Parts: sequence; structure tokens; C-alpha cells
Amino acid sequence: MSSNIHLRSLMPEFFKLSKTTVIKGMQCERYLYLLKHKPKEKTPHDALTLQKFASGKSFEATFKETFPGGLAVDHILGKDIYAIGSSFTKAVFEQKQAATLFEACFLYRQTLIMTDVCRLHEDGSFDVYEVKNGTAVKEAFIRDMAIQYYVIKNARPGLAHFYLVLNDGEDGFLIKDMAEELETELSRFEELIPRLLASLIQAEEPAVAMGEQCHRPYDCEYIAYCTKKK
Ligand code: SF4
Repeated sequence: MSSNIHLRSLMPEFFKLSKTTVIKGMQCERYLYLLKHKPKEKTPHDALTLQKFASGKSFEATFKETFPGGLAVDHILGKDIYAIGSSFTKAVFEQKQAATLFEACFLYRQTLIMTDVCRLHEDGSFDVYEVKNGTAVKEAFIRDMAIQYYVIKNARPGLAHFYLVLNDGEDGFLIKDMAEELETELSRFEELIPRLLASLIQAEEPAVAMGEQCHRPYDCEYIAYCTKKK
């Protein structure tokens, strides 16, 4: 399927936060600050973590194959997805045709998120699918979906379903509609997003002591850095 969209006509839209950085900022504001200001101090992921990322990507790719003809926004735009991904997505919505997008982009309050699968329907409604290679809903998955849900709900009307796609244990799919649960998470972002945006432009690194948050929900990439600075 072709998008018939003239890429040169799309306006760039800028962002300061992404799904990943919001999630890391929720874990620890110092983590978010360091990602922005000291990226070279990160500890590289170990082999086991990289292997988990790879198997997650492979599971996601298998799910995407169930939507033949889907438009892969990341493939169409390459690195330009960060500048014009949300304009491109809007342009596809404005065509008012049924379509499936992989990595559709939504932007609200300088926060850019990309969805694994977004299905647009002719009546203007749409469904989003977030794919996780796990067999049960985890708190970390809820966080990941909640920021997406918040941005999408504010960026565009018509979201009908927000599905979580899990592994059924035999590499098949177990699909749950999470919209009702995610609705209860919306209010926390009203205060959180402005706070995270403000923390990025602080002159000093936030004075957050090391604690349980360094390992929850995942090990922070700055444990070695913060331990050295203690
Ligand atoms: S190691 Fe702990 S204190 Fe340091 S940035 Fe990471 S989560 Fe925050």
C-alpha cells in the first residue's frame, strides 16, 4: 500500500520527551536528566538484556505480519520520523480511508510517541495495538501503555480500542483491550509531563539519592555513574 503523501509538504514538529524518556523519568528524574545531559555515562546493556530486546522485536514483527499491506512509517521516513512522523500520521488520517500504520506518531505537549500498530477505519475511529512479548500484564507494561494512551487521547479524537498483545505462551497472541484501565491513569500525566519538561532544563543534576528505584521496574543505566558519585 502506498501513502500518496508528498513528504516535502509536511511540516516538522519538534519534541522534547518520548515514550522512553517519560518512562525513565517516572523511574527517576535524575535518570531522565542524565539521559539528556550525560548520554556517554550510560552503562551499555548486557548480552541478556540485548537478547530480550531482540526477541521482543521479533515477536512484534510476527504480529505486524498479520496486517499485510500495513504502512511502516519508520521505513518510509527513516530518521525523518522524529521530525515529520506526527505530520505524516495526521496526513494519513486526513485521507479518511481504512489503513494500517506501523509506528504511527502522535505528539502532545512536546511528547512524541510511536505506536506498534494503528488501524484506521473509514468512519474516522482507530485502534492501537501495543505488542509485548510477555504472558501476563505487568506494571511496567501499564506504564508504557499509559503514556501512549495519554498522548493519543489528547492528540487526536476517535481512539476506539487500545489493545495489549501478549504472548499466549506458544508464540501465538493473546489480545486484551486495556482502554478502561488506562483511562484511570490519565490524570497523573497532567502534572508529570510539565514537571519532566522543567527538569530537563534545570542547571544542576537533580539531587536524587540511590534507592529501590534504581532497579525498578528495570535496572537503571546509570547505576555505575551514581555509585561513583556517592
Ligand atoms: S542509578 Fe538510581 S539514582 Fe542514579 S539515575 Fe539511576 S535510578 Fe536515579
